[in-house]
Amino acid sequence: MSIDPSANLSTDDADNTRRQFLRLAGGGMAAIATGAWAAATPEIEANKVTLPPLNAPTEQQEKPQDPSAPPARRVGFAIVGLGHLSLNQILPAFGKSKYAYPAALVSGDPVKARKIAAQYGIDAASIYNYQNYDELAHNPRVDVVYVVLPNSMHREFTVRAAKAGKHVLCEKPMATSVADCEAMIAACAQAGRKLMIGYRSQYEPHSRALVKLLKQNKLGELREFISANSQNEGDPTQWRLKKAMAGGGPLPDVGIYSINQIRFLTGLEPEEVFATTYAPSGDPRFTEVEASIQYTLRFPGGLSAACSSAYNSHKSQFFRVQGSTGWAEMSPAFAYNGLKLRTNQVMDGNEVTQEPAIAEKDQFALELDHMAQCVLQNLTPHTPGEEGLRDQQIIEALYESARTHRPVKVPPVKGPLRGPEPAESA
Ligand code: NAD
Repeated sequence: MSIDPSANLSTDDADNTRRQFLRLAGGGMAAIATGAWAAATPEIEANKVTLPPLNAPTEQQEKPQDPSAPPARRVGFAIVGLGHLSLNQILPAFGKSKYAYPAALVSGDPVKARKIAAQYGIDAASIYNYQNYDELAHNPRVDVVYVVLPNSMHREFTVRAAKAGKHVLCEKPMATSVADCEAMIAACAQAGRKLMIGYRSQYEPHSRALVKLLKQNKLGELREFISANSQNEGDPTQWRLKKAMAGGGPLPDVGIYSINQIRFLTGLEPEEVFATTYAPSGDPRFTEVEASIQYTLRFPGGLSAACSSAYNSHKSQFFRVQGSTGWAEMSPAFAYNGLKLRTNQVMDGNEVTQEPAIAEKDQFALELDHMAQCVLQNLTPHTPGEEGLRDQQIIEALYESARTHRPVKVPPVKGPLRGPEPAESA
């Protein structure tokens, strides 16, 4: 990991920045980074316009934007559930998407749905409720149903979408039990529809740069992963604090980011886990779910993860992965924006910490575009149902450990967990 600390990486172009970082990080990396780039279809690629470079050849070059799909070729999404994530992140992200558009809304509140439909130019005839949801089957503008409901509702609305002939993008956590995850995978397979879980971190540029760094063994042998993802919940009546609706407390909601991060960064799967939970008495928020959980995951080859997640501490989101010859950290990690990646190693006898200037992209737009590309090109999503099922198996093992005060073995992986890497420039 010989990164020149004086290298000027301050550019607005995320992909150029990432490629320069990777080039500096080691020979051959640029080839890996550029090799995977692909537009949605050959027809869309044919409309790519490339301008002659303005800068001297020795300068970092501006990367041309990938072509966007024309409106008629974009993939239509129905958004199910108009809560915080849908209104504040997902719907605005369509404005930055190249291949997706919002085609329909599903809500229990028709007044709210009509207001939102008007904001996004969605036909009022494409507003559904939870009862007539299955009529989406007759809406040809909708290719994908994006399930953004409380966790316990993910199974029902995924299965009904598949039966209606639609592909499904489902928010994390995939469901509240392994059995529900398996039923969702089976329903989509039976209907011949795609199922993707919304693991946005697997599509964002900082994490993807770090995956490549680790693949090149730049930190040496991986030993430790230390991570926290905590927040301070308000309203004690919200569904996140109801065990039946949420599946647990901070673990399935935000702790899942730490679990998923170390799994996809390394491609390794934990063999054994251990956890302890805590819920203070007298706090009305924690009558059903834990306030905090501390947990460890043991991986083959000597890597261990020590993680913490809480619903009663100030927002804190970070991880550090420590190897025998260096470490890399993101702080904040897991956030919608403001992500920072830092690396540390000894260079010429001195400790050097570097922070590549990787410009961020809208994580939800990247995710929507990945799902749209999978539909347009008939690809398996990079984060399919199997990836969500695996995290749920680990979550259930962690809760069993907390209950029994013993380490618990995680069931072995039975098949592939991820589809092809997403296009770099999506
Ligand atoms: P929210 O409570 O703000 O929204 C939930 C929506 O579901 C609301 O519109 C609500 O009216 C509707 N709903 C329908 N039936 C309901 C019922 N019986 N009880 C409660 N609500 C009902 O939640 P949110 O924060 O938007 O989270 C939705 C999903 O998105 C969850 O699975 C959550 O884990 C996930 N999420 C993901 C991220 C991410 O970064 N990927 C961030 C936040 C939430």
